Amino acid sequence: MPEFVPASRVTRIKSSPSVAAAARVRELKAEGRRILDLTVGEPDFDTPQHIKDAAIAAIGRGETKYTSVTGTPELQRAILQTLERKTGQPYTPAEITIGGGGKQVIFTAFMATLDAGDEVVIPAPYWVSYPDMVLANEGTPVIVPCSEETGFKLTPEVLAAALTDRTKWVILNTPSNPTGAVYSRDELAGLAAVLREHPSVHVLTDEIYDEIHFGAEPITSLVAVAPELKDRVLVTNGVSKAYAMTGWRLGYAGGPATLVAAINKLQSQMSSCPSSVSQAAAAAALTGDQSFVRESVAVYRERRDAAVAGLNAIEGLHCATPDGAFYAYVNCGGVIGKTTPGGQLIANDEDFTLYLLDAASVAVIQGSAYGVGPYFRISYATGLPVIEESIAAIEKSVLALS
Ligand code: PMP
Repeated sequence: MPEFVPASRVTRIKSSPSVAAAARVRELKAEGRRILDLTVGEPDFDTPQHIKDAAIAAIGRGETKYTSVTGTPELQRAILQTLERKTGQPYTPAEITIGGGGKQVIFTAFMATLDAGDEVVIPAPYWVSYPDMVLANEGTPVIVPCSEETGFKLTPEVLAAALTDRTKWVILNTPSNPTGAVYSRDELAGLAAVLREHPSVHVLTDEIYDEIHFGAEPITSLVAVAPELKDRVLVTNGVSKAYAMTGWRLGYAGGPATLVAAINKLQSQMSSCPSSVSQAAAAAALTGDQSFVRESVAVYRERRDAAVAGLNAIEGLHCATPDGAFYAYVNCGGVIGKTTPGGQLIANDEDFTLYLLDAASVAVIQGSAYGVGPYFRISYATGLPVIEESIAAIEKSVLALS
């Protein structure tokens, strides 16, 4: 039998490091090791009951068939209302799209717009999937490092320097995975001023974590700050994070009608539509009782405060206080160059995360996966006892270095 040869779009990309980390944790657990898992990229809460009930009721009503590519009328209405609330701008049904998770919506947006050589500006640290999604769709990722000094955020100067005639997209992710950084209104206004000078550039603003924030004000969308850019901004979101619905696979986006039509055309040939049952659940999530969001954010806040205080008390590590999402991005520059009790040199953040797994049984993800080292990402979408035990174990392992 001839050997199977994958297409070049497959060999160009790598599998998600978060998925790989989760697989490694599962493997170690299967070997009987107790692992303190801080790699998790999804809420540890159950989907709220009223959302499950809406899905069960939809099944009862026989809503188990294909829907239109653009979703059920109920979900469309819910998304239009939600986008208007988040951006302050009206959207029409021709300006929204849905897919099997925010991930699929973003992938399809790149597939619908990128030709070979088109550039996508990706501020680093970035969500691991952006560069590979761009590569899979023939585009060229332009990685723009953003330092801790600017809160890991893109500044107008850095953005302006990254744009070329080939720039198709700029990606913004607020709140950010992996840093939890949030762009303020003023920061967005500064970026908008640069974007106004470059009318052919589109912006994909990934706001999937926007309900999980710790400030008094809601997260600001670029569209709210610069409505004049609305016709070249794709706002992507979904129900996974805010409503603990990662397994339901439902994401959505709002953007210019021509772009949305292109995305929907591809979607009509790829999946027709996301699950009808998940659509009913998502409509209930977006329009129903929002107390779950408030309650879960209060829990995340308590965990964030414990994690940040605990990590900052460890010599050699430090991290800024994240304003949103459920991650902290920890600087481990102070342990690089040290040696483990077993005589291994910690040369980079990957060595350090391997050491933590080995010596502390704590699983975290190395900053190199997100494009900026030496850091590691922790997720606090896990119970306070696990966080506290992990910090104690990390501290002990750091103290053992020489
Ligand atoms: N964007 C970011 C920044 C994420 O972290 C994730 C999930 N890890 C997604 C998008 C996609 O989420 P989903 O496909 O579950 O909607």
